[in-house]
Amino acid sequence: MGIISEHIKDIKTELPVGVDLVAVSKFHPADAIREAYDAGQRIFGESRIQELLPKKEQLPEDIAWHFIGHLQTNKVKFIAPFISLIHSGDSEKLIKEIDRCAVNCGRIIRCLLQLHVAEEATKSGFTEAELNEYISSGRWHTLANIRFCGVMGMASLTENKVQINREFETIRSVFDKLKHDYFASSPDFSVCSMGMSHDYHQAISCRTTMIRIGTDIFGERI
Ligand SMILES: *Cc1c(COP(=O)(O)O)cnc(C)c1O
Repeated sequence: MGIISEHIKDIKTELPVGVDLVAVSKFHPADAIREAYDAGQRIFGESRIQELLPKKEQLPEDIAWHFIGHLQTNKVKFIAPFISLIHSGDSEKLIKEIDRCAVNCGRIIRCLLQLHVAEEATKSGFTEAELNEYISSGRWHTLANIRFCGVMGMASLTENKVQINREFETIRSVFDKLKHDYFASSPDFSVCSMGMSHDYHQAISCRTTMIRIGTDIFGERI
């Protein structure tokens, strides 16, 4: 068994029931994805369109591709025909464009609302106040082809475990509140995507439902 398969097996044995694993394959070649695929992994996360499109061409049809990086509005059309889940719904403008492209393809596109909780200004996403304003406004009700499936967030890049915990708790509580207040009748609103290689154990203890792991599966990105 190769090292990638071993990593996937190790992570999967740690995952509680109901937590999905996204294998983040950005910067790693199609061969590496193939090894993970052969080990049974079907969900892969990519963060750049120009990297995702050629990989998709080379790899099996039944892979569920997730887009996890910041998405420019002018690029949505390239992934709209096939993307399984967009984690990075980080502005109203982008959300409207995802819906428009979904209509054009005759698809429903599943999307998460990205919440900005980390201290780094470079990370994108709605602030909690912006997200509450947007969802409570009801403006999204007119969007027929995008389906909100939950919330995604990233904790700060820090060694401070108390802070990471606090940030994951915030993401989870925003997810719970939105679900309770607006999506109680929508079974699709079920994803709280949080946790990466260095912090997924904490995300699990804060009740993540989807972890996004790159380095711990494929090794360092070069
Ligand atoms: C790159 C990336 C990951 C994976 O990061 P690792 O630390 O390699 O596990 C997860 N989520 C997002 C949004 C990313 O951009």
